Amino acid sequence: MKIKRIELYQIDLPYSGGVYHLSGGRQYRSFDASIVRVIADNGLEGWGESTPFGSTWIASHALGARAGIAEIAPHLLGKDPRQVDRINEAMDSALVGHNHAKSAIDLACWDLFGKSVNLPVCELLGGSTGRRLPVISSIHADTPDAMRENVAKHREMGYLGHSVKIGSVDSEGGPVLDAERIKASLADQKPGEFFIVDANGGLTPEMALRVLRLLPAGLDFVLEAPCSTWRETQSLRQRCPVPIFIDELLQHEEDAIHVINHDVGDGLGLKISKVGGLTCARRHRDIGIAAGLSLSVQDTVGSDIVFASILHMGATIPEKNLRCLLDTRGMVSIQTAEFDAPIIDGGVIVPQKPGLGITVDQDLLGAPVAVWGN
Ligand SMILES: [Mg+2]
Repeated sequence: MKIKRIELYQIDLPYSGGVYHLSGGRQYRSFDASIVRVIADNGLEGWGESTPFGSTWIASHALGARAGIAEIAPHLLGKDPRQVDRINEAMDSALVGHNHAKSAIDLACWDLFGKSVNLPVCELLGGSTGRRLPVISSIHADTPDAMRENVAKHREMGYLGHSVKIGSVDSEGGPVLDAERIKASLADQKPGEFFIVDANGGLTPEMALRVLRLLPAGLDFVLEAPCSTWRETQSLRQRCPVPIFIDELLQHEEDAIHVINHDVGDGLGLKISKVGGLTCARRHRDIGIAAGLSLSVQDTVGSDIVFASILHMGATIPEKNLRCLLDTRGMVSIQTAEFDAPIIDGGVIVPQKPGLGITVDQDLLGAPVAVWGN
C-alpha cells in the first residue's frame, strides 16, 4: 500500500461563542483549518486536520501549516502510510519542526492504517479501555459572573469539567480579578466535576502566587500553564500548593522528559497537533504514564476530524491517568465530518468504525487548495 495522492483543503471555523478571550488581551473569532486527504494506490483514503489556535498561542499558524505541508507532501508519495514512524521520519527529514503541518498528514495516515486493517485507530494505539470518557468545556476569560454563567451553561449541556481561562494584568484587574473569576467559576462545582484553571502563560510567578493567596482554602482545581517559560514555572512550582499541568511548554518529547527530570508539573496537556500528531502523542502518553503524570487529551482547537483523533488517543489511557478530553467540536460552529460520538452523561465513547471513524463532508470543503501526486 503506497501513498498516491495528497490533497490539501482550507476552511474557516468560526468560534461558536462569538469572541474568545485569552490572557494578554488575545482575541479569536474564527480558526483557520487545514484539512488533508491522503489517497492510497488501493483506493483507500485517510483524513487529517490541523487547526492552530490563531497565530498568537504558540509558534504555529495556519499559513505556516499549509506551507509546511507543501514542503513535506512531495516526499511522502510512494511511501506506505501504515508505517507511521517511518512516515514521521520522512516528514522530519523534509522539514525541521512545524508540528502543526505534520499533524494533519500523520492523522490521515493513521486513518488509512485503521481502514486498511478494519480496526479503529484506538486499537492500533494500544487498545480502547472501553470507558465513557469525561469531556471538558473551554470557558474563555470574561467577567466573573459571565464565566459562572458559561460554566453553568456547559454543565447543563453535559460537560463533566471545565477549562477556565484567567491571566489578567493589573490594568485589566490583575490577581484580584483572576481570583474572583476562579471563585465564580467554581462556585457551583458538583461532585466529580474537574476544573482546570488555565492562564495560558499569562502570569509571572508573583502574580500567580497572589492569585492563589486570594482564594479560600479547599477549592479543587489544577493550574495549567501559569507561566510562559520553564524558569518561571519551575520557580512557581517550588512554592505552589496547587497541582500544575504543563501545556504550551510541552511540544516535543524532550519537553515531557524535562517535566519529569525537573519535576516541573503533575500533568501534561497533551494536544495532538501541538506535539505533531498521533505518532508523537503516543510517545508523550507513554512517557507521561511511566512517570505517573495525569493527562488531559486535547488539541489547540479544531473540528470533528481533530476531535476524532483526541477521542481515539484518550480511549487508550487508563482511568487513573486520564483527567479529561477537550471536545473541540463545541468550540466551532461548523461540522466538517460525521462522527458518531455524542456526549452522554458528560462522557463520550469511541465509535468502533475503522480508522478515525469519520465521514468527511467533502461538499463543505470544496476544491483542494493544493494537490500532490495523481
Ligand atoms: Mg491550556
